[in-house]
Amino acid sequence: DVIEDNEQIVHKTILLGDSGVGKTSLLVKFDTGKFQSGNFSATVGIGFTNKVVSVDQTRVKLQIWDTAGQERFRSVTHAYYRDAHALLLLYDVTNKTSFDNIRAWLGEIREYAQDDVVIMLLGNKADCGSNRAVRREEGERLAREYNVTFMETSAKSGQNVELAFLAIARELKYRQ
Ligand code: GDP
Ligand code: MG
Repeated sequence: DVIEDNEQIVHKTILLGDSGVGKTSLLVKFDTGKFQSGNFSATVGIGFTNKVVSVDQTRVKLQIWDTAGQERFRSVTHAYYRDAHALLLLYDVTNKTSFDNIRAWLGEIREYAQDDVVIMLLGNKADCGSNRAVRREEGERLAREYNVTFMETSAKSGQNVELAFLAIARELKYRQ
């Protein structure tokens, strides 16, 4: 289930979470450093982006898939999960429903992803202080309950965007 490319393993990484939480924005920010406000097309996603992240002098290759138009719970195909090495699961800190839906997403993941998949929970839109509906502690508590890493991010300000992907790459490298 690993893709060989010039002898180097490419780790399939998937962005998951409700529509509108900022999956595309986060990937675009990581890839280009730019933030564009306004919704990206829900159906025409950017597919996947290959990124190389340096972890302790070695190169970790990530093939990052953006879920588009399949966010509705249970419509992301199970085959899509099956060969994933890492999952970035996002909610929007200004949208309580997107946070409440994380348990359902984690249920799906538990059921269909590999047992050793690396999971990171991200509370995105951390720049939206005044509209916040989910406290950082709530995110931390949920992450602890499911034993996954947690960060708050902002695709707008760039807060923790590189760090989140770096942390995923680091976990992938030292897991094996
Ligand atoms: P997706 O459906 O999960 O891919 O979400 P999008 O990336 O299309 O983002 C949905 C909306 O939220 C867009 O209007 C984005 O500009 C906005 N957005 C995404 N991330 C952030 C963020 O970190 N901060 C703020 N303020 N807005 C964001
Ligand atoms: Mg999108």
